[in-house]
Amino acid sequence: MSSHNPNTPVAVVTGSTSGIGLGIARKLAEHGHALVLNGLSTPMEADALCTQFMADFGVEAVFSGADLRKPEGVAELIDTATMRFGRLDVLVNNAGIQHTAPVQEFPVEKWDAILALNLSAAFHAIRLALPGMLDRGFGRIVNIASVHGLVGSAHKAAYVAAKHGIVGLSKVVALETAGLGVTCNAVCPGWVLTPLVEKQIADRAAVEGIGIEQAGRELLEEKQPSGQFVTPEQLGELVVFLASGAAAQLTGQALAVDGGWTAR
Ligand code: NAD
Repeated sequence: MSSHNPNTPVAVVTGSTSGIGLGIARKLAEHGHALVLNGLSTPMEADALCTQFMADFGVEAVFSGADLRKPEGVAELIDTATMRFGRLDVLVNNAGIQHTAPVQEFPVEKWDAILALNLSAAFHAIRLALPGMLDRGFGRIVNIASVHGLVGSAHKAAYVAAKHGIVGLSKVVALETAGLGVTCNAVCPGWVLTPLVEKQIADRAAVEGIGIEQAGRELLEEKQPSGQFVTPEQLGELVVFLASGAAAQLTGQALAVDGGWTAR
């Protein structure tokens, strides 16, 4: 294993094998961060991903396949960062799942899994990462919430509850760390074309008997005035900004990146 430069900033991005998390991890790497990647991958896929980061950006990336629905999994992930790199500067709580059903039919195990991953995992990661950040007087915590942290949509009880919860958690952590070199914010994206949303588009196409392209267009028209998907790269650029010195006083906010969804 190559020796690590102790001055290189280190970021943990949960759920970074795919979609938004991967986009954010790639932007942080482009801006010189070493990475702890995480997600559900085979060891071969994980090795290939880490090698790709070194090839594309010349930064070290290590992988933890910890299941973040369990507190022990979150502890294993944060330990990976501190054991490998000895520091953790940027924590991006991004891993998340979705399930849609009317509330009276919502499967209890799906409720539990969504709350565990989309909300409790962020609490555990923050409580474990914060002592080191406070010791060093620097830390950036970014919680990937959703427009569903600000408004509701039918059939998304668990997701909307978890995302409103993570917006609230971000505010409390911001208040407790204000003036100590640590910031904590929530990012609230609208529709982003990732596997999580591709499934919802496919479900819609099947129910309405229409093509995938039309179902994607309808999904946007219904909620997102721009008619365009947000991209993982755009969200990555925002996280890079939040991690910078320029954003030192930007804390406790829920930043909507939603093509106008929550403006109406
Ligand atoms: P995605 O399905 O593309 O990626 C999810 C990631 O989480 C993957 O890396 C997956 O391996 C990982 N993951 C899943 N279960 C896990 C577990 N138990 N432990 C550890 N990792 C696990 O989804 P995405 O669309 O990129 O979503 C990422 C985040 O962005 C989620 O929190 C989601 O709620 C949020 N978000 C997505 C959209 C959107 O339109 N796609 C909009 C707003 C917010």
